Amino acid sequence: MLGDDLVVVTGGGGFIGGHLIADLRRRGARVRAVDIKPLDEWWQRFADVENVRLDLREREACAAAARGARQVFNLAADMGGMGFIETHRAECSLSVLINTHMLLAARDQGVERYFFASSACVYAAEKQSVAAVTPLRESDAYPAQPEDGYGWEKLFSERLCRHFTEDFGLATRVARLHNVYGPLSTYDGGREKAPAAICRKVVIAAMRGERDIEIWGDGEQTRSFMFIDDGVEGIRRLMDGDVSTPMNVGSAELVSINDLVDIVEEIAGVRLRRRYHLDAPVGVRGRSSDNTLIRKELGWAPEIPLAEGMEQTYRWIHDRIHACERARVTA
Ligand code: NAD
Repeated sequence: MLGDDLVVVTGGGGFIGGHLIADLRRRGARVRAVDIKPLDEWWQRFADVENVRLDLREREACAAAARGARQVFNLAADMGGMGFIETHRAECSLSVLINTHMLLAARDQGVERYFFASSACVYAAEKQSVAAVTPLRESDAYPAQPEDGYGWEKLFSERLCRHFTEDFGLATRVARLHNVYGPLSTYDGGREKAPAAICRKVVIAAMRGERDIEIWGDGEQTRSFMFIDDGVEGIRRLMDGDVSTPMNVGSAELVSINDLVDIVEEIAGVRLRRRYHLDAPVGVRGRSSDNTLIRKELGWAPEIPLAEGMEQTYRWIHDRIHACERARVTA
């Protein structure tokens, strides 16, 4: 998919969208990036990309976004980490407007292939009730018991993709992304995810000479975290492949949040006391990705070690926070 064919990336001002566009450009694609945020708030912006600001909850906006596109990567969503999605269920659910209108626009514009960014939050809660979790297989999404709000919206939109394929012949690809992290993403303000939040807390504690940090929950909840480069690679392979049913795109490297803090402390060269905030939103007790399907169908699975990805992520957050601090002091 190179040359004159137009590729549209929604949520292009966001974390994954920005990295995906960078990759598409490197491969020579002509890209239109769409996001609701003002352009100066986009994580990445490229002069050779058509950057458009639209509210994709509106049907006409989706028609304008998809016009002339051969492929659509739909990543736009109102979302964040557990602290956001557990307290903004209505807002997260309203992303159904984006997904519904983008699918209609893709169908009406004759788009050849459509990607939807689903989430591991679609998985049934009862399959994630212990820290030593059995990795989640794609079939574990049913009987449906997804995360309330955000997860239900993703599960419904997955099915919408399936029915657009069955009823209208629109080729769809659906990735169930598991916890993506990396540079050029939110690390404060309430929408950040655990890896970025922990980096921020450690950077600030080290900068101010503080001795402790707050951890949400008891730190024994487990997750797997996928570095952004693997995420982009997985999305590309899935889009280019032949599988139209939802597929895990996630790391299988299971760690507890305490393990993750250990990794960040090691990178930062500090040891901090942990204050456990037991009433904070933490989501399910354990979650990891079973990668049998992706290995079988795409001959690949995420492979970047957590310590390696966290090193890059920590350095980026460290440099951002220190640059902001310098600017504040000199202002
Ligand atoms: P992000 O918040 O950085 O990017 C989403 C972008 O969508 C934002 O820039 C936002 O402004 C934009 N957006 C929101 N509402 C919009 C609207 N009405 N019209 C146009 N744009 C709108 O999040 P991300 O981490 O890059 O996630 C991208 C996609 O991947 C999302 O659909 C998300 O649900 C999914 N996902 C992400 C993760 C993860 O760990 N980051 C995990 C699972 C699924």
